[in-house]
Amino acid sequence: MILLLCINGRNSILPTPFNVYALMKRYTRSDNVPGKVVIVGGGIAGCAAAISARKAGARVVVLERTDMLLGGANRAGRMNYNGKMILAEECKAMGVGEVHQALESITLHRGNIVDEEHAYIYNTAVAEPTIRRLLRDRGVELQFYKLVNKVFVEKGRFRAVAARSSSPVQGDAFIDATAGYGGVNNCRKYGAGCVMCVYYRCPTFGNRVSIATLAGAPELARYRADGTPGLMSGSTRLYKDSLDPDLQAELKAKGAVSVKLPAEMVDHSHQGKIGEIRTSRQLERLNMVDIGSCVMCVALHPMPLDQLRKLPGLRNATVEDPLGGTIGGNSVGKLSMAPRDDTLRVQGFHNLFVAGEKAGPGTGVDETISSGVLAGFNAARVAVGEEPLVLPTGTAIGDLVHFSGELMQTREGLGQGCSAGHGLYFERMKQLGFYTTDVAAIRARVEKAGVKDIFARTP
Ligand SMILES: Cc1cc2nc3c(=O)[nH]c(=O)nc-3n(C[C@H](O)[C@H](O)[C@H](O)COP(=O)(O)OP(=O)(O)OC[C@H]3O[C@@H](n4cnc5c(N)ncnc54)[C@H](O)[C@@H]3O)c2cc1C
Repeated sequence: MILLLCINGRNSILPTPFNVYALMKRYTRSDNVPGKVVIVGGGIAGCAAAISARKAGARVVVLERTDMLLGGANRAGRMNYNGKMILAEECKAMGVGEVHQALESITLHRGNIVDEEHAYIYNTAVAEPTIRRLLRDRGVELQFYKLVNKVFVEKGRFRAVAARSSSPVQGDAFIDATAGYGGVNNCRKYGAGCVMCVYYRCPTFGNRVSIATLAGAPELARYRADGTPGLMSGSTRLYKDSLDPDLQAELKAKGAVSVKLPAEMVDHSHQGKIGEIRTSRQLERLNMVDIGSCVMCVALHPMPLDQLRKLPGLRNATVEDPLGGTIGGNSVGKLSMAPRDDTLRVQGFHNLFVAGEKAGPGTGVDETISSGVLAGFNAARVAVGEEPLVLPTGTAIGDLVHFSGELMQTREGLGQGCSAGHGLYFERMKQLGFYTTDVAAIRARVEKAGVKDIFARTP
């Protein structure tokens, strides 16, 4: 008799009662055609994975905890800047540019804050419906209000996952794209408390749960300079109309503005809480970006309103996100990564992959799309009995996956982070000659590495 393990949200491992197995069979009888990929987490990484798995011929279902796709990317907006552009162009050259192109189709501006160049700023007000349409048009099944908190695993093979009060969803391969933000318990323990960020909304939809962790995979976190687990989100968002009229007009025209702060208002200690994603020059400025739904203040730590309103141009400032950030905190993330190989398969599991922030210390829209497309492609391959692909390190995406995997081996490595926008990995991109704004050269490099249009092929 097959011993099936049912692992529930309280981390207990129980032999599955016969009736649960029978229930799974009953609800999944029509799913017996091989090639089904189940993605848990509908953030930008889960969405990119879904598109890529569909292109590779799989049937795809995305289970998302909230009522919306895109997770943190609902308040991001800035993509393609600095080394991120290389990742975007490589994805397109490898045959899976759909998510980038959808976000580029809603570009609001092409402005830059200090230390960044060639950014696209997508309109966060319409990003979610744009991506939702893309996924539905491509035949991806989307299920919302599904906080997955049970996994069914047999000898290292995932068989099914289930959300609270829902029937198990069976699959041939699975992707954990649940990232590492929140929930309320962690924001209380490692932050200032729940600051009601508008994208995760844990009090309403429940705390994040990782299916890799549920199944027993080790859970890695990044640590702040003072040793506290998890990093704080590195920006605050304000209502556009609450800015001084001159600033509003400048932002409307340019899309992005950096204004030098008086020395007494600069707090470099903030860097230790948010990681490598902001430069010193950004911390010395008020960096504002019109992201459509609001104005993102990059590198600005939430603070009491009276203090915020002393900053240049902000005498009427009102906070849009995080709603409760004026208590001096932000959402806490980077709390959950799973050790994996260069195919993004989780160590110890045959058919479980990770994507996005769950896959390593790489953070950012373009970085998480890149790992998403690789995880989706590989899950589709394993779902039909094929070997997963390792991207050559002659491509920036292959190098990023490999290098961030190496960083995950040590706490010090994890601490350095891995963003193509700034810091260690952007410097590495320059040293290795990946960084160029010549799109033809990027395409030629992908072709030379033998992976041109690789993601456009079915296994
Ligand atoms: C406020 C903010 C601003 C940012 N700005 C920028 C920017 O300007 N440029 C840039 O490049 N990057 C930016 N980033 C970083 C970038 O947005 C993130 O790195 C990226 O969106 C992470 O994507 P993800 O899919 O890995 O994770 P997430 O967006 O966290 O998605 C994870 C998803 O999984 C779901 N989930 C969790 N557990 C479960 C479960 N058990 N069952 C079902 N669903 C589950 C969650 O609800 C969520 O939708 C920003 C991030 C934030 C938070």
